Amino acid sequence: MHTALSRRTFLRSATLATIALGLPIVSRSSHAIEVAQSSTVGQSVVANPGYYRFQLGSFELISMSDGLLAVPAAVFAGNATPEQLGEVLQEGFQTETLTPHCNVLYINTGSHKVLIDTGNGTSMGTTAGKLLEQLKAVQIDPIEIDSVIISHAHPDHVNGILDASGGFIFPNAQYYISRVEKEFWLQPNVSLPKIGIDAESQKNMIAVAQKNLRGLGDRLNGVEMGQEIVPGLTAIPAPGHTPGQIAIRIVSGDQSMTHTADVVHISTINLWHPEWQPIFDADPELAVATRQQILSKVAADRELMFAYHFPFPGIGHIRPRSGGGYLWEPATWQLNP
Ligand SMILES: [Zn+2]
Repeated sequence: MHTALSRRTFLRSATLATIALGLPIVSRSSHAIEVAQSSTVGQSVVANPGYYRFQLGSFELISMSDGLLAVPAAVFAGNATPEQLGEVLQEGFQTETLTPHCNVLYINTGSHKVLIDTGNGTSMGTTAGKLLEQLKAVQIDPIEIDSVIISHAHPDHVNGILDASGGFIFPNAQYYISRVEKEFWLQPNVSLPKIGIDAESQKNMIAVAQKNLRGLGDRLNGVEMGQEIVPGLTAIPAPGHTPGQIAIRIVSGDQSMTHTADVVHISTINLWHPEWQPIFDADPELAVATRQQILSKVAADRELMFAYHFPFPGIGHIRPRSGGGYLWEPATWQLNP
């Protein structure tokens, strides 16, 4: 009991630039990232590329890094004890502050140019919000994007929809989100009774969702679970993290991949212990059930998986882990896709 209480106190008092909140907090750890990114060896800095091209059937895909967040590890395991979490961090070569990536997926299906999610926009300081830089680097003009699929309406997925003056960053796109997700965030009184974050953070989360979804007006299309959004891309129900989150199954020819959105965040914590509950899940128990169900299917099918928050480029397979859960096996890079 003492452990549970002190854990709750820690979670409440921590200043969290959490994935869920999207607050531009410069914590000591994110400052460390900025310093690391701007440090120089000799006279110049050549950054690593933040884009990775690959093929899936006849589709051309690019994983694009929107950048990094800095989040206390405990946020991803609200119902684990510090000892249990500490063991996983130790075994996984991780520290108490994690830096989840944000991988935005671009898909050229031949008939559509699609983005899945839009990243952090300008909400996260200098460590994230790099989607437009990556598009420029791969010579894709935002006006070419015709479809933007929104997995769910959390800040790190929707803050790249509008520019500072409320204009469309992807002016020729239709936007797709599950009807359930759209109706949830756009109702007059949104409440999140089961979420583990404080009231102020909830207020911010709701305001960001509403600003971006309302800003889209009639460009925003509500899709049904199981619906094919554009040919080859189907909405898979993934509720719990948010009420209407979708995963996206991508099929071309005899190849397929599941984009798991925020069904999982950290490749150790959430795969090894799918039963652990991130504190920003709207319905933690439903999120666990969804996580178990989607992970078990992807593992059983030995299907390729794309994970928005896993280490860039976020592409790999999962397989059962002795001791429970799953292990992440990053895919080998295709050097000449
Ligand atoms: Zn996220």
